[in-house]
Order: sequence, then C-alpha cells, then structure tokens
Amino acid sequence: MAAKYREANKRTPAIFDTHTHVSTHAFDKDRCQVLERAWSSGVAFLEVGFDEESSRKSLSFAEEISGFCAVGIHPHDAAKAENLETRWKHIESLVTGSSRVKAIGEIGLDYFRNLSPREAQIEAFVMGLDVARRHGLPAIIHQRDSSNDIISVIEKHSGGIPLVFHCFSEGIDYARSCLDFGGYISFGGPLTYPRNGHLRDTVRFVPADRLLVETDCPYLPPQSMRGKRNEPSYIVETISAIAGILGETPSEISRLTLDNALRLFAIGEQKW
Ligand SMILES: [Zn+2]
Repeated sequence: MAAKYREANKRTPAIFDTHTHVSTHAFDKDRCQVLERAWSSGVAFLEVGFDEESSRKSLSFAEEISGFCAVGIHPHDAAKAENLETRWKHIESLVTGSSRVKAIGEIGLDYFRNLSPREAQIEAFVMGLDVARRHGLPAIIHQRDSSNDIISVIEKHSGGIPLVFHCFSEGIDYARSCLDFGGYISFGGPLTYPRNGHLRDTVRFVPADRLLVETDCPYLPPQSMRGKRNEPSYIVETISAIAGILGETPSEISRLTLDNALRLFAIGEQKW
C-alpha cells in the first residue's frame, strides 16, 4: 500500500494539508486506508513532528510515501530529561540529512496547558527559530494563550523567515501582526464550528496569497465529523467553508491554498 501511495503521491495533488500527524499511534490500525482516502481526494500533506522521536518518525514516514515533513519540538515537550540543546542538535541532523524536511515545527508557546514551564518553552522556541533561520526553512508556529510572547520572540529571533501560524484560533488583530511578519495563516476544522464567527471574519481579512488549510489530524475534526478522529481527507469540509465565506468555488480555494503551500515549502522545485 505504501508503494501504491508513493506512486499516487507522484502526481501533483489538488489539495495540500499543511499540518498532519498521520505517523502517530492514532493511525496505527488503518493508516493504509487513511492514505488511500487522502489520495482519492487528491490530498497531499506535510507530516509534522512535535519532539525528537516523532520528528524521526515523520521523516521516515515522509520518505516511505514520497511525502514531506516538518521537524521540531512542541512547547509541551520543551522540558524533558534530556538537554534541549542536544535534542535540537539531533533534530537539526534530520534537516541536513534529507530534502524531505520542508519546515521546522511545530514550535511555539502554549500557556493554556502549560505542560512545560514558560522559560523552557521560550528557550525551545528560540532554538527552533534559530535552526529554521540557519537552514532557510519556514517555521510552523503553535500558539495558545501566548500571543504577546509569540510576537516578542518572533520580533527578535525570526530574522524574516517565512512563518506558518498553524490552526489559527485568534481574530483579526493578531492576524494583522502575523501578516506583518510575512506570516501565512492556516485554518483547520475549528473554522467550521458554529461558535467561531471570529475565524470566518479572519478568513475574509487574510490576503489570498497568505491563506493555507490544514487538518491537524487526528485532532480537531470539522463540524460534521466532531467526536471522530480527524484525517487528511476531511479537509474538504474546511475548504468548502472557506469557499462559502469568500464566494469562490471549492476548487478555486484548493488551487489557491495548494499553490501557496508549494511555494512556501519550496516543494514545486522538487519531483514528487
Ligand atoms: Zn499539530
């Protein structure tokens, strides 16, 4: 099945899901079927690591299916027994070892769950931005209840690298700051939730060339799938929602967000 998917993945996709965790245990039982459904919906994706182990896994999965990945340390995993610098060194060796690594992430700050102390989160975030800058890669930013610190760290340490604000959950004011840094805004399933009118307003605000879509699967399924495990093929619901908001067709939004993702992650230059 992996071989079949590898062939399927060589065709230019119709849709690009910029944030997935398909190599995690949540998909161990039926990963092949999940890939098959992604392929038949024309969905390619960027598999995203969140610590050293999952970054290694994301890369070997990307190589197996001729896909692409990001490697990084999530703020939840900032404080671990092993030295942060050593972990980042190991992750950086994945970047130098494979052209399938297209971004550093996910990195950022999460003050909602605070699973690591804030100082450790900031340290891990700064190191991640440094790695991204050294390798000329975009960074994928996770943010929760931490927008002020995100902005001040980025101001000092991003050095103008492209940034993806993943699973965007804020309103227009924060989006404006993100866009001012040259950032891309990536919308996921929460855009389709009835209570999230502020996200639909933000979609109208984001310039067409900075718009991205993602699932963040297995988390945050779109409205019609709530309570279920999310997967890349469900991204069509988020795309339809954006199309409805902007008065475009779903295929126009697919095309637009695909072009943005391929340009941002410099995938167009590489053979699938
Ligand atoms: Zn994620």
